[in-house]
Amino acid sequence: MADQACWVCGRSLNELNAMFRGKTSKESTIEGQEAKVRKDRADFRSASGRWGEGSDTFSQFDFVFVLNNKPQFKKIRYLDDIETAKKGMVDRLGDLRKSRIEVSLGEVPAEELNKQKDFISGRLDAFEKATGRKISAFEGLNFRDGLDYIGKSGLFYYDLQLEALEKSKTTASQERPSGKIEIVKLKSMARDVPVCGVCMGLFKELRE
Ligand SMILES: [Zn+2]
Repeated sequence: MADQACWVCGRSLNELNAMFRGKTSKESTIEGQEAKVRKDRADFRSASGRWGEGSDTFSQFDFVFVLNNKPQFKKIRYLDDIETAKKGMVDRLGDLRKSRIEVSLGEVPAEELNKQKDFISGRLDAFEKATGRKISAFEGLNFRDGLDYIGKSGLFYYDLQLEALEKSKTTASQERPSGKIEIVKLKSMARDVPVCGVCMGLFKELRE
């Protein structure tokens, strides 16, 4: 009985499953986002690796003090990039932590982050525990340690996006229809007939 074809369209269960095997457009979109985040993560990793170069003289200076007095520290290369990374990623994570405002994170829209609220907040907790400080709190860090902290926070910024995207991809894949063939009674038919899910949707009105 199981391998009989749909009485309406003639498709077998194998044919139906082959039809549904393709990714939904939502899954494809998410995969594109994941690829972008992975590339940005790799770019950030190699860029941030160069930030400490030439700033040994200032390594013990207070990090916040240096950033607040940028014109005085022109000798530190990449200072603009460092500030951009702090504002664009670390402070962003800080906003997300406060969760009083709707925050998106790179490729992940606020709406999706809200759906995963418990997961996200657990990950933020774990990160604070691992670094021993509140997210985006630079107080008391010298320049060298501030750079390390941005490096770690930046990677976390991307990893958190990848984890959130992976979760929404799983949800999207569960929304993908799967093939099924049921034995049903149709109006004006003397016998029960096998009908696939697709045809069932189209011929619902024929069911008794
Ligand atoms: Zn059918």
